[in-house]
Amino acid sequence: MGRTFYIGRLFRIEFRLHFTWFIIFFLVTLLLVEPNYDRLFYWLLGISTSLLFFTSVLAHELAHSLVGRANGIPISNITLFIFGGVAMMKHEAGKPGAEFRMAIAGPLCSLVIGGIFGLLLLIPAVDGPVATMIRWLAIMNGVLGVFNLIPGFPLDGGRVLRSVLWRTTGSYIIASRIATWIGQGFGYLLIFAGILIIIIRPFDMTWFDGLWISFIGWFLSISASASYRQIIGREKTRTSNDIELDSTDYTVLPSEREKKD
Ligand SMILES: [Zn+2]
Repeated sequence: MGRTFYIGRLFRIEFRLHFTWFIIFFLVTLLLVEPNYDRLFYWLLGISTSLLFFTSVLAHELAHSLVGRANGIPISNITLFIFGGVAMMKHEAGKPGAEFRMAIAGPLCSLVIGGIFGLLLLIPAVDGPVATMIRWLAIMNGVLGVFNLIPGFPLDGGRVLRSVLWRTTGSYIIASRIATWIGQGFGYLLIFAGILIIIIRPFDMTWFDGLWISFIGWFLSISASASYRQIIGREKTRTSNDIELDSTDYTVLPSEREKKD
């Protein structure tokens, strides 16, 4: 994966930051502070919101990890990188039920966190720029939960689909193949949608939104193929113990366009 930095350990799981994470942290913070770059208060608020958002991504990964471990899938570390978070598994689930529970845990965690931020907005004292940030956190956690539930492997939803197909067909390979096709198809669709956004700019979207969506689509389609090759390779050689697989999550970059005054 390249250079990563150790940040701490919780529940015997190592947390790390990939060097590309610093880029996304910087971009998200800039987006949140915009257009109040000359005021310290907005910088503090932006940095705190950005940190809370990435802590939410870590919580999503931790949910996968703890549920995975309880279902016999050991996790070695959790890493944040430019497109989101990754929980490194020592091997894949041995049973469809274990895969289903581990996969669904992350999105559920994000939806619950999003709901909690949503509830905070009901407190009358929460208003002004702080409320704007909390609303953003609620939306972003919702997006993190819903986007990752899209049923294309290697997204969480793709793993959920695979576990269901695995149970119904009895074949791990067939289930993986179908979930991977959908994952690749969805990746191509995102690349195409991103290019369209760059050209026609619908709904007030910017060229950057389009570029970002295309990038996620591209990354998703290559990781779908790579994960599938890894699955096939593992089935052929039966050396599951020394392969590290990842459960990758994607954060869709925010388009924050509300005024923060
Ligand atoms: Zn996830």
